Amino acid sequence: MNAVLVGVFLVAAVVIAWIVAGPALAARRRARHRAAPLGEADRMYLRRRVPLYAAMPAELQRRLEGLVNVFLAEKEFVGCRGLTVTRPMQLSIAAQACLLVLGRDEHVYDSLRSLLVYPSQFLVREAWHDEDGIVTEEERFLSGQAWDVSRIVLSWEDITGRSGGDEAYNVVIHEFAHYLDHEGGGMDGTPALGRRDERARWAAVFQAEFDALRDAVDRDEETLLDPYAAEDEAEFFAVASEAFFEAPVRLRERHPALYGQLQGYYRLDPAAWAG
Ligand SMILES: [Zn+2]
Repeated sequence: MNAVLVGVFLVAAVVIAWIVAGPALAARRRARHRAAPLGEADRMYLRRRVPLYAAMPAELQRRLEGLVNVFLAEKEFVGCRGLTVTRPMQLSIAAQACLLVLGRDEHVYDSLRSLLVYPSQFLVREAWHDEDGIVTEEERFLSGQAWDVSRIVLSWEDITGRSGGDEAYNVVIHEFAHYLDHEGGGMDGTPALGRRDERARWAAVFQAEFDALRDAVDRDEETLLDPYAAEDEAEFFAVASEAFFEAPVRLRERHPALYGQLQGYYRLDPAAWAG
C-alpha cells in the first residue's frame, strides 16, 4: 500500500470516528451540564430578577437551572455597540429563554449559536421585491429579532425596562417563541406539534382566537393580548406565548381554549404557580 493510500485511510478513519463519537461526546457534555446545579449567587440573582423562576415549584427550578447551564455552555453571547454582556445578563436571558423548553425537555435550541445583545433598540434595514420587481426599503428600530435559527438579536434595555410590570411584555419569550415557530418549519404561528389531530385542534383554536383579536382591534376594543398580535399568525403565537408566561391567570380566564393549547404545547401550567 502506498503512502498516499495510507493517508487517505487515516483521514477517513478520523472522519468516521468524529462522526460516530462527536454526537455521543456532545450528549455526555450536555448531560453533565444539565445535572450541575447553579451556584447560590446565580440562584439569588434569578430569584430577584426573574419572577417566574421565583414563582415555580422547586422541582421545576432545578430543571430550569440545568437547562440554563446547558444554554450558557453552548451559546455564545456577543455584546454589540460596546456592550459587555455580564454573567447576570447572560443568566437572565438564558433563564427566560429556557422557560419555553422547560416542559418540553428534548431540545435546548440546538441550532442556536449566538445571542447578539445591544444596549438598546437597534436599527434594521430591510429590503424586499414585490411581484413587479420593485424594491422597497425600510428602516425599523427593533427590541428583538429572531434572525434565523442560528442567531437571535436582543435589546438589553427592553429586557429589563418593560418586563415585570403589569403588561404581559417579555421580549426574550417573544423572540424565542419565534425561534420555535421557525423550527416548526416556516413562520406561520405553528411550532412543531406532534400528532395530526393535535395540529388540527391547534389550527382551529388559533385561527378562531386570531380572527377574534383582529375584529376586536378593528373595533378598538381593549384586549388582553397586545394588539401587535393581530399583525399575522407568527406575531400572534409570539405575543400569546408572552401572555401565557407573564399573565397566565388572566389568559386562562379570558382565553381558556388558547391557554389550553399553549399549556399542552409547553407542557407547563404557569397559572398554577401564581397561587
Ligand atoms: Zn415578533
